[in-house]
Amino acid sequence: MLGKLTGWEDTIVALATPPGVGAIGVIRVSGPDAIRLVAALWPAKDLLQQESHTLHVGVLKEGEEALDEVVVSLFRAPRSYTGEHVVEISCHGSAFVLERVIGAILHQGARLAKAGEFTQRAFLNGKLDLAQAEAVADLISSQTAAAARTALHTVRGGFSRALRDLRERLISFSALIELELDFSQEDVEFADRTQLYHLIDEAAVTTAALLQSFRLGNVIRNGVAVAIVGKPNAGKSTLLNTLLQEDRAIVSEIAGTTRDTVEETLNIDGILFRLIDTAGIRQHTTDVIEQIGVGRSLEKMEQADVVIYLFDVGEEGFEEVCKMHTELRAKGKTFLLVGNKVDVGDRDSGVAGGAGVATAGVAGTTGAATATAVQVRFPEEVLISAKEEWGIDVLKQRLVDLVLKGEAADGTMVTNARHFEALRKVDEALRTIRKGLDEMLPGDLLSLDIRHCLHFLGEITGEITSEDRLDYIFSKFCIGK
Ligand code: GDP
Repeated sequence: MLGKLTGWEDTIVALATPPGVGAIGVIRVSGPDAIRLVAALWPAKDLLQQESHTLHVGVLKEGEEALDEVVVSLFRAPRSYTGEHVVEISCHGSAFVLERVIGAILHQGARLAKAGEFTQRAFLNGKLDLAQAEAVADLISSQTAAAARTALHTVRGGFSRALRDLRERLISFSALIELELDFSQEDVEFADRTQLYHLIDEAAVTTAALLQSFRLGNVIRNGVAVAIVGKPNAGKSTLLNTLLQEDRAIVSEIAGTTRDTVEETLNIDGILFRLIDTAGIRQHTTDVIEQIGVGRSLEKMEQADVVIYLFDVGEEGFEEVCKMHTELRAKGKTFLLVGNKVDVGDRDSGVAGGAGVATAGVAGTTGAATATAVQVRFPEEVLISAKEEWGIDVLKQRLVDLVLKGEAADGTMVTNARHFEALRKVDEALRTIRKGLDEMLPGDLLSLDIRHCLHFLGEITGEITSEDRLDYIFSKFCIGK
């Protein structure tokens, strides 16, 4: 199916820019008749005779009625986004004008495109694989630099390349096995077992790295849910306000939003952090925790990717903080212990403003004693003053570090839950294959397991694997029979 034109009979049209008034609105037409339909509205020049990848300025007319002066871009099949003839018409961005132009193209015989149909056609015509096509949607909806970068990397084939490597390894593995089968009578050994183990282990490493990237990929796409929890008066709402200082202006500019209904978000180094249950923090009374780690705050932690446990270094004893640490560890949560109010009582003892992170120099007060004790036990500790805004940059950096931990160097990342599930099955299948090797399974059974594995990989990119495997066998091994 891939690589061939789909042979769709119909030509589709849609507005490619957002509806409403803009300087320019772009209408896209794709299909076998795309050029002919627009040419029928273009009396001044014969568009049908024009080269691919050319621009034309002129007036679109329906009968005697001038619709708009436009710029038309021509792309002839298969050198276009969809792989079909494509015409893009840049009109003046009036909703009325755009509607009239689309209407005129419909009158010529096009039909309105369905959601995602241009990209769907691009996929079916082999212009993009499934993973790339899905990333187009992610790119369009990306809200931060990191999300856009990851999506673009996938659109440009970064993820697909990683999968292709994986597939090629498996296919060559399977080719070796099948060769063995073919020549089993003659006692020829093509596939030495060590080499096979090696291939499977390499594939497993690639899969593991891709699976690992999902946590990061997913947060980059959807934002990291952060819960700030702690006892009453620990300084949660003060910290929230300090963190949100810059973003607040942006939020209040949006008409009709109130701070309680809008989820508070924070963009640090291009990563979106979603501060959850901020209304709970603001309402204060609903946030009471009688004992550490009970009730509402536990519930809140369940939903969070990262938990900030905030405590008052002067009030909360070391034992209490340790208990919380153990509890968070047990829950398998990613968390930060943040000691607050390091400004209290030790302004003269070395916690200089600005640096904000207390060191051993804070010894001498109750608060400082706790802070020091915690720091000795938990070197990753962050100490701040939410009120004086000390240590806030360090806290932000720690949040980013937690997220970026384990980022793949080449920027390939799994951001899609469907891909993640398929990769998990690939991983399982690889284990089965390895077990099969351990148990000296016959080649035909091994090759069945490999087919499984290739099937799951193919699910991601939408490729058909069996033909490819045959092609690969014949191209790599000129057996000549
Ligand atoms: P919450 O109940 O956890 O939301 O705590 P609040 O943010 O309402 O803070 C409780 C009290 O602690 C308020 O009087 C704050 O001004 C004070 N507070 C918060 N952070 C700091 C800090 O870093 N230093 C000092 N000295 N006081 C703070």
